[in-house]
Amino acid sequence: MPTVSADEVKGLHLALDIRHQGAEIRGGYSLNGTQWVYTDWFDPTKAGTDTRDPGKSERNGPQAWSQDWTQRWKNATAFFITGYGTKGRSTSIWIGDAKVTQGANTLFTGSFDNWTKIPARGTATPEGESVLLQPTVGTWSMVGLRATRRLEPGNLIPLRLELGTTPSAASSLDPTKTNGYAMVVSPKEIVLRALTRLGLQNAIYSLLDRWGCRWVLPGALGEVIPHRDSLTLSLGTTTSAPRYDPSVEANGRGGDYADWYNRNQCGWEKWLSGQHYWGYALPPEKHFADHPEWYALISGKRVPTQLCTSNPEVIARVIEVGKTFLRNIPHAISFPLDPNDNIDFCQCDRCRAQDPPGVGKDGNPLMTDRVVRFANAVAEGIREEFPDRLVAFYAYSTHTQPPVNIKPASNVAIIIARSHYCLLHLQPDKRCPSSLSFHELIRKWSQLTPRIYTYEYDPISWTGFLPCPTFLERSRDARILLDDYGIKGGVTDRAPGQETAAATYINNFFERRMKADPNRDPDKELTEMCDGFFGPAAKPMEAYYRTLAKATDYLHPGRERVSIGTHRYHEMFSPKMVAAARRQINDALRVAGNRSPFTERVQFVEASQRYLEAYLDGVWSAQTGDYTRSVTAFERVESLIKEMTQSGSINPEEARGRMKTVRLKTLAEHFPDRLGMVRRWKLLGPFDNTQRDADMRTDPFEPVASIAGPVTSAGGAHREWWSYESRGGFVNLESALKDRKVSWKLSYLYAGLKLQTAQAAQVQLRMDSFFPFRVFLNGREVYHRSGLDADCPDKRIVSVDLPNGESTLVLKLSQTKLTSDAFPWGLYFRITDNQGNPIPSHWDSAGALALDLHDMPKAVSTFPTEWLFRKDPDGKGSKESWFKPGLEDRDWQRIPIGRCWEDTAAGAYDGDAWYRVKFSIAKEAAGKKLALSFDGVDEEAWVYMNGQLIGEHSVASTRKSPGELWEEPFTVPVKNARIGEENLLAVRVHDSAYAGGIYKPVSLIALP
Ligand SMILES: [Zn+2]
Ligand SMILES: [Zn+2]
Repeated sequence: MPTVSADEVKGLHLALDIRHQGAEIRGGYSLNGTQWVYTDWFDPTKAGTDTRDPGKSERNGPQAWSQDWTQRWKNATAFFITGYGTKGRSTSIWIGDAKVTQGANTLFTGSFDNWTKIPARGTATPEGESVLLQPTVGTWSMVGLRATRRLEPGNLIPLRLELGTTPSAASSLDPTKTNGYAMVVSPKEIVLRALTRLGLQNAIYSLLDRWGCRWVLPGALGEVIPHRDSLTLSLGTTTSAPRYDPSVEANGRGGDYADWYNRNQCGWEKWLSGQHYWGYALPPEKHFADHPEWYALISGKRVPTQLCTSNPEVIARVIEVGKTFLRNIPHAISFPLDPNDNIDFCQCDRCRAQDPPGVGKDGNPLMTDRVVRFANAVAEGIREEFPDRLVAFYAYSTHTQPPVNIKPASNVAIIIARSHYCLLHLQPDKRCPSSLSFHELIRKWSQLTPRIYTYEYDPISWTGFLPCPTFLERSRDARILLDDYGIKGGVTDRAPGQETAAATYINNFFERRMKADPNRDPDKELTEMCDGFFGPAAKPMEAYYRTLAKATDYLHPGRERVSIGTHRYHEMFSPKMVAAARRQINDALRVAGNRSPFTERVQFVEASQRYLEAYLDGVWSAQTGDYTRSVTAFERVESLIKEMTQSGSINPEEARGRMKTVRLKTLAEHFPDRLGMVRRWKLLGPFDNTQRDADMRTDPFEPVASIAGPVTSAGGAHREWWSYESRGGFVNLESALKDRKVSWKLSYLYAGLKLQTAQAAQVQLRMDSFFPFRVFLNGREVYHRSGLDADCPDKRIVSVDLPNGESTLVLKLSQTKLTSDAFPWGLYFRITDNQGNPIPSHWDSAGALALDLHDMPKAVSTFPTEWLFRKDPDGKGSKESWFKPGLEDRDWQRIPIGRCWEDTAAGAYDGDAWYRVKFSIAKEAAGKKLALSFDGVDEEAWVYMNGQLIGEHSVASTRKSPGELWEEPFTVPVKNARIGEENLLAVRVHDSAYAGGIYKPVSLIALP
């Protein structure tokens, strides 16, 4: 316990007790702005004891100190502790107590209980009048504490922190113990008492909360620290035993925002996870080859989609994996054991025998019984070694409903997802039966086990960072779930950055407020937040948020619920409502005037209002048939995303991706022919897909190369093709089959199209479906996508060579579950040139889609499949001109393009690499505009032709992220081609993670 004394300052004593790890430490202090005193290095070997007795350091002495800090805090009573660690190693410091005394009187007791680790980001500026934690910089970590005011003997009540130990009878995993605290207020002192550092931290922040401090969003803009001199507290003891356990949120949360979570009293020490984990427990890449029987049996074949959980060997193995997991992660409360996120479960007899008979509302058998049975078996296996730890999984997808024939064991926890229920009406509301069903689901689970948590989607997932009006609704429901069903806690599915985003920060802030104290009144919270956060603009901003919140009055007519994604999201907002919100935020801007930081805060929110307005304009003008206005509005959406990216108030990758979907779906729906969407199809089927295996097996009449005549199915029946034409650009197969009575719920079918061309050409098929599909061109498979994935027109692009004359396209489309209206079974499909422009077409008299390829870009060169390749880990290729025609490249590797380099002899690699290829150009290209067309380069590309940089597809050139660039086709104009001679194309590729390289075809095209 190193301590320092300050008796030279008017008889005052400052005592600190300090524990630390991994570093030497030193400190400094100043009392009422008197000269700073710097301590010598403390001897780490003497640290670590905690007697709480103020003592004297034997080795005080001056040290260099941060001028910056001493300047800023020059009039304060403050002290710092800094730990120096070896570079790269972490340093931890705890300050258990700090006390200033004068004679027998305690003048000030301030304490801070936290630790910081290297590296952490950012620097902090002392502000306000409170105890502040300063983050770390460089190789040292620092904790600073500043007194709340100048010391005035006789006028202060000491604040004492007491850290107790958990009684042996209590579990160290009980959040009411670990996160709770007591505050004892008497005329003489305030005592904050807790059993853990986390509890003390919550106590301190709760006191600051009473002071009026708010951390509305992470970062300086979100801090509300009121200036005041005194605080009135009622006498007596207040205890807080948090009802919401935040440990279920610990995984992946915090990060840069950890301080913000802590300050909102939602820090955590333990981690409860129920994530999708079957695939991680027994990774197929390790075991599938030797033990196919550990994995799912589907259609007579073993496939690694899920585990075969009735196999005793699988259970025994996973128990061992679970034990290792819990041994290695001491802060893990649970071993996660949710199935992989797909619905392709094992169909072996033993597994099936565990399922209750029949199918659920989604057309699939209920999987919960087998999921629970497996979790119970593993939970039993770990119980002896880990008596107070759990196995946890989600109630989600085909295992949402409670089990029928089995109960979860006492050491199994369930995290119940709201994904199949209304995400707008969160409280039980008679007008929305889906909201009642969700609460009924919670009630049913709560009768089976007390260990239930919820998994929420708020703001509504996949809505591209648009405003989501659920903050009051969600807050009210949080209390209902706790009071009426006794849930233990909850986690929210959210895209990174929602805590700081202009439109969605408020949902996150309200979530934190209610989780820290579910007894709060959400309406009062909104008033208080607006008062503190928007100052003079509080009134119009509160009105603004109340206007947005009215969107929960929308009752989604014609469908049972609002689900994730932007499907009909616009219907929540009426033109009147948006106009009112606009007036209110304009009022707010006006009253805020130039008063910092209130103006900045209103402007911050106002950008999200413009974003909402542009999005709605895009959708609404498409609905009225105004193509130009709609496209212009969506361009405005794009530029607003850019603007907000610069101010850090949106996640650009997420927003851009979702808005691209909205734009394409909206335009495809209202202007199908303009986009070249194929609406007229021949359909074959439906066939029975109750086993959900159609996508994985082959019918006897496959491949289907013609749509001219009937086919003969396995049973000998003839099946005819029939015609269907959709109204919009989406071919909704559920609508197409509406009048066809069948005895099964899940179907598959074939969709066919005859094409007629007057010349051979390379075209792009741009398409997508939420469900698995395969594409055959003239009997040859050219594309396959399995599983389920949120669809977006143009998301799947494949280049195909059409021969001159007639071709037949056939798609095999499989429905593997019944869906909501948001992601129905169907298809987006169009045929474009290499640039994505629709190809002019008409239906000819023979019923074929005749493509007018006259104005099509033509491929004028063919590249060899193998290119020269060289890794460039040191980035010297540019300096050494690896793109020059004359370069000695005989020792370069030869690898094929058209697949990522990880799948070639090049092997696993992240970083820079170069491709080179020589090729010639056909004479017909002379005088034409030429371009290189890349179907896909993962991630960034710089293109050199004959020694010259002619274009790039990079973060710098597009302002897009690698996550967007890698799957985006692009073209580069070519002006220096040598017709009839040899040309050299060189491409530098940069890949930062996962697969990399030129993984799709490249062609040189002549533009019309
Ligand atoms: Zn099985
Ligand atoms: Zn609803």
